[in-house]
Formats: sequence, C-alpha cells, structure tokens
Amino acid sequence: MSNMTARAAAIAAIAARKSQDPSVNFVEESPETVFGANTFNLAVMKETLKPATYQAVVETVQNGAKLPEGVADEVAEAMKNWAVSRGATHFAHVFYPLTGTSAEKHDSFYDPGTDGRTNMSKFKGKTLIQGEPDASSFPSGGIRATHTARGYTAWDVTSPAFLMGNANGTTLCIPTSFVSWTGESLDTKTPLLKSMQALDKQARRILKLFGHQDVSRVAATAGPEQEYFLVDKMFYYARPDLLSAGRSLFGAASPKGQEFEDHYFGLIPDRVMAFMYEVDRELFKLGIPAKTRHNEVAPGQFEIAPLFESANLAADHQQLVMTVLKKTADKHGLVCLLHEKPFAGINGSGKHVNWSLGNATQGNLLDPGDTPHENAQFLVFAGAVIRAVDKFAPLLRASIASAGNDHRLGANEAPPAIISIYLGDQLADVFEQIKAGGATTSKQRGTLQIGVDVLPELPKDAGDRNRTSPFAFTGNRFEFRAVGSNMSISGPLIAMNTIVADSLEWMASKLEGAADLNKAIQSALKEVMDKHGRVIFNGNGYAEEWHAEAAERGLPNLKTSADALPALTAPEVVEVFEKYGVLSETELNSRYAILCEQYEKVVNVEAKLVAEIAQTKIFPAAASYAASLAEGVAKMKAAGVSSSTATLEKVAALVSQLESDLAMLHAVHDKAHEVGDWTFKVLPAMTKVRATVDELEGYLPDDVWPLPTYQEMLFIK
Ligand code: ADP
Ligand code: MG
Repeated sequence: MSNMTARAAAIAAIAARKSQDPSVNFVEESPETVFGANTFNLAVMKETLKPATYQAVVETVQNGAKLPEGVADEVAEAMKNWAVSRGATHFAHVFYPLTGTSAEKHDSFYDPGTDGRTNMSKFKGKTLIQGEPDASSFPSGGIRATHTARGYTAWDVTSPAFLMGNANGTTLCIPTSFVSWTGESLDTKTPLLKSMQALDKQARRILKLFGHQDVSRVAATAGPEQEYFLVDKMFYYARPDLLSAGRSLFGAASPKGQEFEDHYFGLIPDRVMAFMYEVDRELFKLGIPAKTRHNEVAPGQFEIAPLFESANLAADHQQLVMTVLKKTADKHGLVCLLHEKPFAGINGSGKHVNWSLGNATQGNLLDPGDTPHENAQFLVFAGAVIRAVDKFAPLLRASIASAGNDHRLGANEAPPAIISIYLGDQLADVFEQIKAGGATTSKQRGTLQIGVDVLPELPKDAGDRNRTSPFAFTGNRFEFRAVGSNMSISGPLIAMNTIVADSLEWMASKLEGAADLNKAIQSALKEVMDKHGRVIFNGNGYAEEWHAEAAERGLPNLKTSADALPALTAPEVVEVFEKYGVLSETELNSRYAILCEQYEKVVNVEAKLVAEIAQTKIFPAAASYAASLAEGVAKMKAAGVSSSTATLEKVAALVSQLESDLAMLHAVHDKAHEVGDWTFKVLPAMTKVRATVDELEGYLPDDVWPLPTYQEMLFIK
C-alpha cells in the first residue's frame, strides 16, 4: 500500500465500496406526504393564519399586491411556531448575491433571559421582513466602499420559506432580496422581480387588445433542465483541478468516449439511481416539482428537470436544486460537478431554461392554440420574442457569459455563441408568409389575414427539435439552451423578461387605437420580420457554413466572455433596463465589473493550478521517468546491446517542452490585467501546457501517473 499512488488507492477503495443502506422509502413516506413538507406554504398558512391575513398573503403571492402593514407580525409568529415545532433552532435570510450563488446568515431563535436561562426570542414581523447582513464581503462592483457596508435583505413573500438542515439540526430559511444602503440591488432576485412586473404590465396591455375582460397577472414561467456530472469522491480528491476549479485542466482522452452514443437515455447505473431517488425526495420536501431524470450524452453525465414554475420561484428552486444535488452526491460518495465543461473532448453541461409567459385567465401565452383568433394573439407574443431576441442578441449572449460557459459554447456540442432562433418549419413558414405581405396567390394572401381568414393551422408541436439552436421554440415555450450549468438562471430571465416587455410595449403602441386590429397586427408582424427575421435559423447551428451565413446576416458572434460582457453596458441596454426600472446604469456598471472580476478570478485560479500540477506532479514524474530510461539505455550500451533511444528522446523532449510551456504561462500570467489578457493570452498558454502534459500521459508508465485518468473518472462508479 505504501508506494501506491493516490490513483491506485482511490480505485481500490471504490472497488471495495459497499452499497449503502437505503435512505429513501416512498412506500412508508409517500411523495404526497413528503411534498412541500419542509415549506411554509399556502396550505400551512391557511391552517395557521387568521382568514384575513391568509387572504392578504394570497393576494400578494398570486396577484402581486402589496402586503398590508401588520400582516407580517402574524405571519412571522406562525412561521416561527411552525419551524420550531419542526425542530428549527435558527433562522436565516437567504439571498442571492451577484456571485450567482446563494448566501445565508443564521441567527438563533434564542435570547438570554434575565434569570440566566434562555428564552425563545420574539420573532417579530420586522425581523421577518428585514435583515441586515454585512454587505462588505459581497461583490458590489464599486457601488459601495467597504466602510459603507450596510446591506439589507427584504423578505420575498412570493417564495415560500423552507427548512434546511442535516442530521444535527434545522434552520428556517427565508428567501429575500438583497439591496445596498443606497437602495441599489446587490442580488439577482430584486431585478428579476422588477422584470416580471414590467413584463406583466405590457403583456396585459396586449391581452386587453384581444378583448379579454378578465385578465389576471401575467407571470414569466421558467423550467430549467439541469445537466451535471457525477464522479467518485475518491477521484475528486486526487485531482486538485477538480477540487479547486471544478473542471479537469489535464487529461488525455479516454480510449472510449461518448462515440457509441450508448449513454444518452441509457440504463441509469444503480448507484446513481439511489442518488437520484434521494435527490427527488429532498426536492419534494422543499416543494420543488422534480419531474424528469435521465442519463445525458457524455459518460458520467445526467440531467434533472423540474416542472416549470413562476420565474422567481423557479430561480430560487433552481439554486436549491444545485445545493441538493451537491449535498446528496456527497452522501453517496460522489461529487456532483456543475461546471460547464468538466472534461475536454466530451459534452459539457448546460442548463436549458424553458421560458414562457402566462396567467390564470388566458393560460400559456406562447401556446399556438387551434383557432385563428387565438393564433393572432399567439403570433403577437411570438413576434415580440423574435424582435426582442434579435434586437438584444448581444445582451442575451452577455447574460450567459462566464469563464466556464466559454468552454462549452460553440464547441460543436453546444449552441454556438451566435444567438439565433429556431422556430420549427411550420412556424417559420407562417412568419415567412407574413413577411411576404400581400403576396402572390390568393391562398397565401388568405393566410396572411391573421384572425380573419384561415391561417395555416399550427400543429400542437410547431416543429421538430433542434439541439443546435441556442434559442428554440419547442411547441409552447422557448428554450434558451445556451445557459451554463453552473449559473443562476436569474440573469437570462431578467434579460428575457425585460426585452420582451420592451417588444410588447412596441407592439401595443402599434396596435392600440388601430382602426383595423388585424391589419395593424399584420403590419407590425411584417415589420418584425423585415427588421428582425434574420435571427430565425432552422438549420444546423454547429455547421461552419452557419457561422459564415450568420456573419452575412449581420448577426453578432461574440465568441468569448471578453467579447460579450461589454454588451451589458451598451447604451441601448442601459436604456431598456432603465426604462422598465429593472436595473439602473449604476447597477449595470456594477454587474459588468463584477462579472469581469469573477471571470479574471476563475482564470487566475485555473492558471495557478495548471502551473502547480504541472510543476509538482507531472514534471517530477516525467523527469524521473526520462532519467530511468536514460539509465536503461546506458546500461544496455554498457552491456554491448543495441537499444533504441526513441522513447527516451521523445520523453526528454516533452519534459523540456513542459518547462518552456510553463515559463511561457508564468510570463503571460504575471502580465495579465484585463479580461482580454486572461482570454487571449493566459488561457492559450494553459492549453499549451495541457497539450504537453496530455501527450506525456501517453508515455509515462501507468503506475507513476499521478492523476486519475479520464477513463477512470468517467467510467468507474
Ligand atoms: P426536453 O424534452 O426539452 O429535454 P424536459 O421535459 O426535460 O424537456 O424539460 C422541459 C422543461 O420545460 C420542463 O421543466 C417543463 O416543465 C418546462 N416547460 C413546459 N412548459 C413550460 C412553460 N409554459 N413555460 C416554461 N417552461 C415550461
Ligand atoms: Mg430534457
């Protein structure tokens, strides 16, 4: 055992692993009893609040009404009693800082009593509504200096409080907004709520135009599909790159990769199934409607998708999904990798954000429906999306920019960095006909009179699927496929809601007061197609030809974060966010600064890891192997036996190559200042080191290779 590498020890331990005792039993604990059990949801509130108080909460949650004063005190008391009866000793305002993660600060429910004992403290409405974590350690992008650290968290009534804990205890978690002393938002939730409000207002204007009398609040809806990898914890700990960067910075391709296409939707390994059942159970407890689970394309890659919910709730739940995946994996001796590209050469992980808008009275507004009249309404909403996506393509690209996602986008397995819309053949055809105006044949002209004459009936599934499109219409919603697996979905949702609100307002201004609504719709949609139809692309987004064609169409191709992030502060972006009160110029500047800083920090850590691993693990192994080969050659020679020096020469050359690659990496790393330096100088220098190391992996004896290999990490479970 003593001279066993960490690798060999890991494999031995995994092989000896006993399967765990079951921790889930859906027979004794049925999903119905489990679902929402750890949330302070409307059902619990109905039981514990006075009817008037309960009604006020419902009004706020379902219709966006302001919560009347005084209500919070009663809710707080009921919430605390419920939580304490379930074993909670602490409460925490959970917030969503601009790092894209979740943050929480815990306080106990207990205060010292006058007699030296402890008392349950009064959990007043004020404590529920407002918290004050020290904001100074969270990125603000220059909004406030460290000495003006005040930040406030404000209770989000629309997202149920929940219980989280472990075997040792339970904490009541309260979702909140996080704002600075000066009122600027320091989080992802606040602008998301504001963007939903803007979308609601404009969508209702459109619905009124179609003669709807009863129009309830319109909410953006989101259903995020989460892709992830699972690797054994033993391997994870033996790979400093996975441990500190979440992705492998070295590793020659496994002899077997994903070429057999046998993993996608394949039989789920038993160990992973046990994990998945527990994940689902934990999500059910939190009221998260986990629905779909399956193997993904790459070996070791899986997916989970809950049912869609109102965007704000979906965003909070998505953060919890990531937490639960990681926590549960740990219990099963696995590590859940949420990085967008943990392994080179095989598929990376995305988070497909399915997005639509709808309400209780009219339903899903992106459902094409069956009747021409409803189709016209649908086409107005779909047309608004087309206009928005084309007009603000750089913003959408920027909303999914990160160091991790850069490795995935455009890598021939994920959508390219060019934002285009896949409509499917049927719908694309409808929009083409609209564009053709009063065209040639009467049949065609007939189909153009939307809502009056017969439109080509839209099938329920308006088209095929297209995995290569970053933004695809999938029957009754759009699927933003380019979002990264590790990101908060709030950024893309804020962008979508705001730019679609803007397009709906544009539509409303064209249609309101029009003498002939149908004519006005036709002309507005034609204008959308004339100006923005270029964004529609039904072909293969991975193909080289598309890149050329997109360039001809004038579509931006912002390949890296360095190219994309500046879009966040472009004048038209600032204008649209300010117009709808979603983000101010100051807030956008701060977000831009934070994202750049995050990007630089990520690449900086990775560069240091590359240098460290190559220098302290790979170089020693390779250099001593070269020395032992040289010794062997010398001995053979001394014995008068002819010996090939080819391997020795190759390994020796790679060793000195590694030294010069490392010297180059250090040189560019020392001088990196801006995002562009990290992208265009440091990353290529890291790739260069990697190429040499990966080549060495093919020469060094297996028993001295220090890092778990791709083959081992991807296939041993
Ligand atoms: P796919 O077949 O594309 O992989 P999945 O079934 O894995 O789809 O996920 C589709 C997601 O889209 C689910 O989360 C689903 O609830 C969501 N979805 C369905 N309808 C809507 C809608 N109207 N708005 C937002 N998301 C939706
Ligand atoms: Mg799916």
